[in-house]
Amino acid sequence: MLPGGCLGVEFLTQGTYDWARVGTYIGSGFLFCRPVASVICLLVKPSSASRVRTLSAYFRERYGERVHKIAIDYGFTCPNRDGALGVGGCAFCDSQGAAAAYSEGDMDLGDYVRRMINRFEKRFKAKHFIAYFQSYAGTYASPDVLRRAYDQALCDERVIGLSVATRSDCLSDGALDVLADYVKRLREVRVEFGLQTTNKVTLAAMNCGHTPEDFVDATRRAHDRGLRVCAHVIFGLPGDRPEDVYACADLINALGVEGVKIHNLYLTPDSRLGREFSSQPFPMMSREEYLHCACEMLARLGPAVVIERVVGDAPDDRRLAPDWTIPKQYQWQIINEAMELRGLVQGGQAVFDSERVAPADSYPDP
Ligand code: SF4
Repeated sequence: MLPGGCLGVEFLTQGTYDWARVGTYIGSGFLFCRPVASVICLLVKPSSASRVRTLSAYFRERYGERVHKIAIDYGFTCPNRDGALGVGGCAFCDSQGAAAAYSEGDMDLGDYVRRMINRFEKRFKAKHFIAYFQSYAGTYASPDVLRRAYDQALCDERVIGLSVATRSDCLSDGALDVLADYVKRLREVRVEFGLQTTNKVTLAAMNCGHTPEDFVDATRRAHDRGLRVCAHVIFGLPGDRPEDVYACADLINALGVEGVKIHNLYLTPDSRLGREFSSQPFPMMSREEYLHCACEMLARLGPAVVIERVVGDAPDDRRLAPDWTIPKQYQWQIINEAMELRGLVQGGQAVFDSERVAPADSYPDP
């Protein structure tokens, strides 16, 4: 257990406690148990309005109740891994980490989805669900294969939406036609693209193989067909500057992108960066630096953008670096505290300028 003096030092140096960490300290000291810490947090944390528009808030606004995502690994691959575009994948991607946390062997996808519905209904009292094709490039197959996969997942009327993570350069017209068909009968159809940064030099160095122009093009085509779009960005890629990621906010605002996931870089042994770090460690963002960048990013995003997550992480036994985490279950408490400390609110520094969507002018080639 961290001694009470640590909390006092944190209070004196930051002017505030990080309430989630306080709960963790107390819980770990007494019972080594995070649920206990959560309850203590809820009891002691002063109430404050959320400074960001979270995904759960959006679901409550739109559907009046909780909506739960069911993560699916259908066995798609990625053109940046199978040789069509590249091999080895993006430098930060690990072949295990890109797979969904939830997949149960060879079980029929419909059975798997129904099992998850029952589980989440009991555990979270969720009534509505979104089938979330999380792993690799969820549009990287023929239209027939895609339709069959999505149909299997949409096997229950409680599944009201479809969400597909993919690459912005991997959205063929055929895949778009398939997804657009679901717009007519589902309440929510979304695609997620890894934008990461606007710096093409970084994207090339990370072997991503996609560009900000790909993101602009895919977003426009998805919007034309009635799909919602979510962008992933990463702070802390080697050689990248926070400003390169902040520029993503301008692009997102100008394009009317609906959602964002903000990640800190983390390294696992099965990624190229992880292997490089193991043989020659390099500096990683500190927790404080990352929180600062995340807050600045949130302030630059428009107030309507749905913030789906503000951390990236791997299980403790697979995370090489950094040596800190922001537990997912506390992410909103922690980010709210950090925003409050800085006097920031989502949208407070947002710029809406269509000129920012001219990537050919804005983002020089490497
Ligand atoms: S596009 Fe996604 S799945 Fe493919 S290598 Fe990059 S991070 Fe991994």
